[in-house]
Parts: sequence; structure tokens; C-alpha cells
Amino acid sequence: MHARRGRFGAGTTGVAAAAALVMLLPFGGGDRGGDRGGGHGHGNDRARNVIFIQGDGLGLSHRELVRLATVGKDGQLAMNTLEHAGWTTTDSADPEEAVTDSAAGATAFASGVRTYNGAVGVDADGNPVPTLLEAARGLGKATGLVTTAQVTDATPAAFGAHVPDRGDQSEIARQFLESSRPDVILGGGEDWWFPAGEPGAWEDNPAKDPTEESKGTAGNLVERAQDLGYTYVSDADGLADARGRKLLGLFANEEMFEQRNEGEGDLYEPEVPLVDMTAKALDVLSRDRDGFFLLVEEEAVDEFAHRSNATRTIQAGQALDETVALALDFAKRNRGTLVLVVGDHATGGLAIENVDPEDEGGEGATTEDGPFDLAGSDLQFTVDWTTGGHTGEATPITAQGPGAERLAGAQRNTDVHDAVLRAMQGRGRG
Ligand SMILES: [Zn+2]
Repeated sequence: MHARRGRFGAGTTGVAAAAALVMLLPFGGGDRGGDRGGGHGHGNDRARNVIFIQGDGLGLSHRELVRLATVGKDGQLAMNTLEHAGWTTTDSADPEEAVTDSAAGATAFASGVRTYNGAVGVDADGNPVPTLLEAARGLGKATGLVTTAQVTDATPAAFGAHVPDRGDQSEIARQFLESSRPDVILGGGEDWWFPAGEPGAWEDNPAKDPTEESKGTAGNLVERAQDLGYTYVSDADGLADARGRKLLGLFANEEMFEQRNEGEGDLYEPEVPLVDMTAKALDVLSRDRDGFFLLVEEEAVDEFAHRSNATRTIQAGQALDETVALALDFAKRNRGTLVLVVGDHATGGLAIENVDPEDEGGEGATTEDGPFDLAGSDLQFTVDWTTGGHTGEATPITAQGPGAERLAGAQRNTDVHDAVLRAMQGRGRG
């Protein structure tokens, strides 16, 4: 789409010179003081960096569940400390379903259009629509996708690909490499990068989930990535040691966790924790003198809520919050960084309830749903669910940094795209 704007001279000398230049330049653009009504002069509202953090399925009740279990009534999660807060509708434009899926939800955030469920980066008529990641790239910024889902799953896909069907994950991977070209791609989903019969670094049919096996439909895309200059890694040590400006890490066959039927023992033990993937991505992307756009997604909130597992939903929410804290710390040290935390929809109809033995029928009575200790108190609570699917309410958004004030209040999910785009472009408020 866009030709990459020439940024640095070729070769290591240019890169080293650019790195030195970054050290000397003042951090350009945004100014958190501007959010508080300070000077809105030229450039003050520009978001040099954007860290777009999504909890998939992260509704208000999910955030509150994590808060009560982690820090209790008097505590606050990192994700709730951002300066601006509001809520976004979650509607899609599906002809058959009232409630969105993650593909339409992510397309609303990434491209500012409502589309049908299952659509990735295309509008309701199937036409490709430009994304925030592509816009960032057009502005010369580095870009990255980090998720505990498959890197080609609906949310990251909607920022870096355009396909009518979210299931076409090898085509999504191919488009990452040959079209949108994120500099950093970290997550799961290795099975979509290797054709059948080529297991890759993660073995086919493992004991943890015998259904997992390579099923790529676009050849060996890891080799293709390496040909295009990506450093490829498949485990935590490899990621820690990786050098270079383009990085592909595939840390699981599918999701970086295992979801099973209720009571059958979901697992949340990612090969690389979300916070560590995010730290590496920030390390690589922040070398770009034009700034960066980074999408970070914790997928497990949604998946464990689908399986009515409050224990694991809490765990995934804690992993997300740790990552938000890291992003806020980065923003403190790097002015001009817009951080936002969103949910594309809520999942499960999660309710936080008093412990009441009379209330629970047989099906709901697993230890996965409590009782949980309410942190910092002698109280306990349980969790109940109304559905194994998504729900249609609005979800909370918190934001801080240049342009964050536009993300406060009641808004549509598509408005998030517009606000972030304006923030990157440095266009004035209003
Ligand atoms: Zn879901």
C-alpha cells in the first residue's frame, strides 16, 4: 500500500547513527501537560507512540472481577489509573446477529467501520478498509502486533490484513509479510505458518491438545519471513536473545494457553508472558525515530469467559494489568505516548455475587467460579455466568497521553479509530 518512507541509511552504520540521533532528540510531539489544559500549541497533541491494549472480551464486570480478586475494595488496577475514562458501544453491522464477534469488533477499532461478524479489515460490502497500523506505517512509524492468541486471530488480523473470513489465517499471515509488514509479530498460531506435515518448532498433535497440527495453506511462511528479513524465534530464550529490527515470534501451535470444557482444567501458562512479549516489542519499536504503533492483546479473558472459568479469567486479567503497568511506565519515560485500554465486547454475562449455597445449581457449582477471597478483607464472592457467548453491552475504555481526552465519555467503537488516527496525525482537538 504505502511505500515505506526512507528513514535510515542502509546498513548498520545508518542504524547506529539513527540510534544515536534518537538519544539526542527531545521526545517529540505529545505532552501530558497538554491534557491538563496546558499549551495546545503546534504539535503538542501529537501521539508519537501509540500502545493500543485490548482485553478481548473485557467488560466492566471483568475488570471489576480482577480488581476485587487482586487489590480489593480500596485498591486500583493499573488499567483503571489512566487519566481519561469512558465507554464504547460494541455493535457490529451483522445482518443476522445482534452481538458482535472479535473480527467485527477489531475492524471497528482498527478501521472505524462497522462490518459483519467474521470480517477482518473489510467493510460490510467486503471492500478493504485502511487500518490504524497501516496509517502509522504511512507516517513512518514502526508497527507491532502482540497477542496471546494466534497472531493471525481476529484482533491482530484486523490491524494488519484484509480478508472476508477470519478463518483464513494463512492468508492473513501472508498479508502481514507481504503487505502490512509489522516490524514485530509476537504470539501463538504457528500451525498457520507451516503446511501440513511440517510441524515447525511446536510439535504436531501434542499431549496437551492432540488436535493441534500444522495446517498452513500458503507454503512455509516462516521461511518467507526469514527471507524478508525477520528474525524468527519460537521460545522465551530465543526472544530474549533476538536482535534486529524485524521480529517474528511464534510461541504456540494455536493460542498460548489451553481452553477446555468447564471443570476440565484450562491452562494459562504462556511460553512467554504477555508482559515480556510487550517489553521486547517496546524495546525494538522504540528505536524508530518516528515513533511506533503497537497493538497488545490478552485473548484469554475472552476464551476463559467463554468456558465459564472465573479462576482463569482473573489470571488472564492480571496478566493484562501487569502489561498495562509496563506500558504506563514506558509512557512516563517517553513523552508523546498514547496508551489506551479497551474491550471489543464482553463475554459470558459475568456476575459478581455474594456466596449463597442456595443459589447454585449443579452445573454452576465448580470451583472455577469461586468462592474467591475479596482481597484485603475477610469476605468472599462467587462468579456466575449467563451465557457461553458474547454479550452486547458497552465496554469501558481508559486512556492517557496525547489525544486521550477524545477517548473519554460515551462513544461508538468506531470513534476509537478516529480519535487514535487524529492523535497520530497531530490534528487539533475538536
Ligand atoms: Zn469470544
